[in-house]
Amino acid sequence: MIMSIKQNVQQISQRIEKVNKEAMLVAVTKYVGQQEIRELLEAGISHFGENRVPSLLEKQSLLKDVSQSIQWHFIGNLQTRAVKDVINQIDYLHSLDRLKLAKEIQKRANHPIKCFLQVNVSGEESKSGIQPAQIDEIIDQMSAFDKIHIIGLMTMAPIDATDSELHQYFVELKSLQEKIAAKKIPNAPCTELSMGMSRDYLIALEEGATFVRIGTALYQ
Ligand SMILES: *Cc1c(COP(=O)(O)O)cnc(C)c1O
Repeated sequence: MIMSIKQNVQQISQRIEKVNKEAMLVAVTKYVGQQEIRELLEAGISHFGENRVPSLLEKQSLLKDVSQSIQWHFIGNLQTRAVKDVINQIDYLHSLDRLKLAKEIQKRANHPIKCFLQVNVSGEESKSGIQPAQIDEIIDQMSAFDKIHIIGLMTMAPIDATDSELHQYFVELKSLQEKIAAKKIPNAPCTELSMGMSRDYLIALEEGATFVRIGTALYQ
């Protein structure tokens, strides 16, 4: 049976609430158009995630009438040269993964951007993200950037990870997050964890996710 977007939102929200009432559902809209986004808004969703700059800008221009109700999250790989087009159009960036990108954001942003440092906890070579051993140095290098506000860490688990591997990756991300939070760095409070997608959001929530990024499961 195909369920409506509204039914999917209700079911997923209930599952999320059972584990963590405070967790934020970010509806990933890269597969859908403005009509589905409007349905999601009516179903009570206000946080939306896109992974490509042109699609984000196009959807924003089609949704001008409801822009006040929307918080945009950029979740994809961000090219340094695209920063100027997008950085002042978004509320959250989930994919801060290199110093060069932070430098460009510092130059182009006209307000502090809520950023997640993307971390490669699985060690998969194809995945973008900072290596865990490099995090401290990179946060230190970013500490002078007042436009970068590191609110947490983000990761993407490998597509073929087993449940027990998923638990392991998410536990590791949480432990990295807690170590940074304990340092009380002014521009890196690092209290949040962006982890979990359609396939693995319940496991991520069990391990402490505060933001889950869900696409596919909303449209099935
Ligand atoms: C597409 C995407 C998601 C959502 O994935 P689903 O499996 O469709 O829920 C989450 N995070 C990132 C970074 C994505 O690119």
